[in-house]
Amino acid sequence: MVEKHRHCLNCGISIPPDKVFCSEKCRLEYLQKRKRMMRLNYMFLGVAILIILYYIITIALKL
Ligand SMILES: [Zn+2]
Repeated sequence: MVEKHRHCLNCGISIPPDKVFCSEKCRLEYLQKRKRMMRLNYMFLGVAILIILYYIITIALKL
C-alpha cells in the first residue's frame, strides 16, 4: 500500500500529510530563504525600473 505523504518544503524528506515541514528548524530556514528571494526580486525590479527610466529619459532628451 502506498502511504500518502508530503515532502518537506525545505529539505524534501517525507513527512506526514498534515505537515508542511519536517521540523521547526526547516520551517525557519525556508522562511529565511524565501525572504532572501523576495529581496532579490525587489532588487531585480529596482534595476529594471532604473533601466526603463534611463530609456525614457534618453528618448525624452532626443525629442
Ligand atoms: Zn525538512
